[in-house]
Amino acid sequence: MTTALLEVRGLVKHYRLRGGWPWSPARWLRAVDGVSFELAAGETLGLVGESGCGKSTLGRALLRLVEPTAGEVRLNGESLTALDGRALTAQRKHVQMIFQDPYASLPPRRTVEQILREPLDWHRIGTPASRAGRVGELLARVGLGPSALPRYPHAFSGGQRQRIGIARALAVEPQLIIADEAVSALDVSVQSQILNLLADLQQELGLAYLFIAHDLAVVQHISDRVAVMYLGEIVEQASSRRLYAQPAHPYTRALIDAVPRPASGHRGHRAPLVGEVPSPVEPPSGCRFHTRCPHARPICRSMAPREIELGTAGESHRVRCHLHDPEIDEHFDD
Ligand code: SF4
Repeated sequence: MTTALLEVRGLVKHYRLRGGWPWSPARWLRAVDGVSFELAAGETLGLVGESGCGKSTLGRALLRLVEPTAGEVRLNGESLTALDGRALTAQRKHVQMIFQDPYASLPPRRTVEQILREPLDWHRIGTPASRAGRVGELLARVGLGPSALPRYPHAFSGGQRQRIGIARALAVEPQLIIADEAVSALDVSVQSQILNLLADLQQELGLAYLFIAHDLAVVQHISDRVAVMYLGEIVEQASSRRLYAQPAHPYTRALIDAVPRPASGHRGHRAPLVGEVPSPVEPPSGCRFHTRCPHARPICRSMAPREIELGTAGESHRVRCHLHDPEIDEHFDD
C-alpha cells in the first residue's frame, strides 16, 4: 500500500450553539463526527454528499481554518493538529484550497499580479527579482496570458477567475489541493475545461486532490476513490469504479440514481431520495440515515452500524450499513 500523504483519524468538529437560557443544557451542532480516511500522494479522493452533510467543514478542519474538536490530521507523517505558529504555517503551505466562488475568494482591489505575488512574498519563495517571472509562469500554467496581470478580478469570467484561484493555490507548490465545490458554480462546458486543467496539473506536478462536491457525475470524472458523507459521517468509501458499479449503502445508491443518464436524461429505477438531511444538532439515533432509508428496520433506529470491509484483496470498499453486517443481517430477512 502506498504511504499516505494525508491521514485523518476520528476527526470531529462540533459547534456549541448560543441561545436558550443560561441554565439550559448546552446544545451542539455535530458538523463532523468521527471521520477517518487516507489520501496518497498524486491521488484524487472525491468527497460527496448533499448540502449540510459536513463536507466543507471537514475540508476546513483539515487545514485548521476551523479548529477541530477532536481527532488527528497527519500530513507526511507529521501531526497538523499538534502544531502551532510558524510550524503550522510551514506545514499548511503544502495544502492549498480552491473555493466554489472564486470571485468572493479573490481580493477585489488587487490586481492579478498582486494576488499571485502575495503568497510568494509571504512564504519568501525565490528572490524578489525572480518572483515576477514566477507569477508569469503560474498564469501560463493555467492558460492565461500576461495581459491578465494588471487587471482586477471583476474583469474576468467565472472560469477565468477559477483559473486565477488555481494559479494562486499553485504558487507555493503544494502537495495537496482541497477543491471545495470548485466547479459547482460554472457552466457545464467551463466545468469540463477546469476539470481537464486540474487533471493536467495533477499529471504534471504529482498533486493530490480532495475534491469536495455534491454532484456525483463531476466526482466520478476526476476521482480515483470516492467517500460518501452523510450527516457528519463517512458512510461508504471505495474506488470510483467500484463505488459507481456496486454501490453498497442505500444513501450512495440513491445519490447515484439521482444523477440523470446522459443519453436519455432519465434517472435510475431505485426509490428516489425523499426528505431533507435531518438537523446535525439532534441527529437521528442509531443509523443517521434511518429516517430516509427504504430498508430501515427497528435495529437501525437503536444501533449505529459499524464499518464493514466488502473489498477483495488489494481493493478496499468500506460501508457503514447493517445490511452488510453478517452479525446483523437476520434482521433483514423479510
Ligand atoms: Fe438503511 Fe439500516 Fe443500512 Fe442505515 S443501517 S442505511 S437505516 S439499512
